[in-house]
Amino acid sequence: MPRYITVTSLLNKTKKRDPWFLDDYTINPYSGCAFNCLYCYIRGSKYGINMAEKLSVKENALAILRRQLAARARKQQQGFVVLSSVTDAYLPIEEKEQLTRGVLELLLEYRFPVHIITKSPLVLRDLDLLRRINESAILPPDMAQYQHKVFITFSFSTIDPVIGKQFEPGAPDPAKRLLAMQACADAGFMTGVSLMPLLPFITDVPEQLARMYAAFQQHGARYVFPASITLWGEGEADSKQLVLQAVAQYYPQHLTNYQRLFTHNNSVPAAYNSALQAAAAAEATRYALPAQIPFV
Ligand code: SF4
Repeated sequence: MPRYITVTSLLNKTKKRDPWFLDDYTINPYSGCAFNCLYCYIRGSKYGINMAEKLSVKENALAILRRQLAARARKQQQGFVVLSSVTDAYLPIEEKEQLTRGVLELLLEYRFPVHIITKSPLVLRDLDLLRRINESAILPPDMAQYQHKVFITFSFSTIDPVIGKQFEPGAPDPAKRLLAMQACADAGFMTGVSLMPLLPFITDVPEQLARMYAAFQQHGARYVFPASITLWGEGEADSKQLVLQAVAQYYPQHLTNYQRLFTHNNSVPAAYNSALQAAAAAEATRYALPAQIPFV
């Protein structure tokens, strides 16, 4: 059972717009995440090993959000709202709670553009609202060149269902995400992929990258953001421990490589990352999938 909590703020203003995610604001309707990815950067003792058990619903979210959006709209401060940054806005509980849907209704009313980042096909339920936001939202003046006011990004670390279950045990099957992306593209939305984290030696190898970029293109993606993994912490609920355990269990042949990369560091070395970015850039060129959201 989720906990129900009250909050004092829902709309977070970002300090600086990320060049990939184009976030002026972020909104997280839930606290914690039932998708339970081992590599998740919010992991740690606060949410425990099974993050689904520590999920919270922000029950006063919509009342707080209405006040915050009204104040921003009065000052004509509409900007892209990312849903979500530290949870997934389309967790299974959203089917019943409809909190994300309520957030979208308010964003429509106050004319804020939206960037959805999700692993869930449940986003398809809200295409009606997203279509209306796409027609009527106000873009920030320095983003006037964009033709779309809604971006829908699907998050993948793999398209292989077995690897997906190993590292994202609570998340929807990658094949369902691909089909949902196709449906968004068919409905005319600007849609693409957040390809992170790529798992060293497992999903960042050339044949996997080629397969993924091909599948993304075939399913309507217009862009792909590729990035390697960052692992944190020494505690039993921390991402570094959980990913190393999974590698030991499922990919023992790569364990020494992982220990070499991560025992004393949180991210891959600069040279490793450069080689990965070069390999991803080659696939991006091959499949016309740039690492930025196109203007049209
Ligand atoms: S879907 Fe995102 S927020 Fe949720 S567990 Fe996975 S990485 Fe973390």
